[in-house]
Amino acid sequence: MVLPIYSYGHEILRTVCEPLTPETIPAALISDMWDTLYGAAGCGLAAPQVGESVQLFLVDSKLLYNQMNPESRAVYFEDNIGIKAVFINAVITAYSERRWVSEEACLSIPGLQYGIERPWSITIEYRDEYFQPHKRTFSGITARMILHEFEHTNGVLYLDHLPQRKQKRIAGKLDRISRGRVKADYPMSFTNDSR
Ligand SMILES: [Zn+2]
Repeated sequence: MVLPIYSYGHEILRTVCEPLTPETIPAALISDMWDTLYGAAGCGLAAPQVGESVQLFLVDSKLLYNQMNPESRAVYFEDNIGIKAVFINAVITAYSERRWVSEEACLSIPGLQYGIERPWSITIEYRDEYFQPHKRTFSGITARMILHEFEHTNGVLYLDHLPQRKQKRIAGKLDRISRGRVKADYPMSFTNDSR
């Protein structure tokens, strides 16, 4: 089931999410989040973006890998082929010194896209949808997608990485997005919707 995606301006996008336990793994929510992600043609989605304040996010970078030509793959993926995975209670335990800038966008902030500097690779400890523990290192665009979604579960948005003066300049655009004065190709919940 496709869920509406909460727009910029919703307080839940600024809230630190609660951890899950084996007893509280929301199987139906995870299934709905995949539907919502693919319905919006996205590559990552975090639970607070659909109104659930829990430490859960999904990433599919395989889709992008399959769409890219070999030259682009060499830049964005280097030696990996991407992942499709569920991340629960994630903790980033290491960041590479190597950093890179690449364009990012967010399903909660439609119509905007900015270059953001991030570490090239990260090590992350997390549980999967069966609550099995993992510790893995990811790089390139996959690490970028993971960091973007991980930050959502801590109330951080990618725009927070922009310089202050840039953030000031786009404040009007963000205000319009929060009030629904924006076009998106997928269902959204705006701050002025009655719910
Ligand atoms: Zn996002």
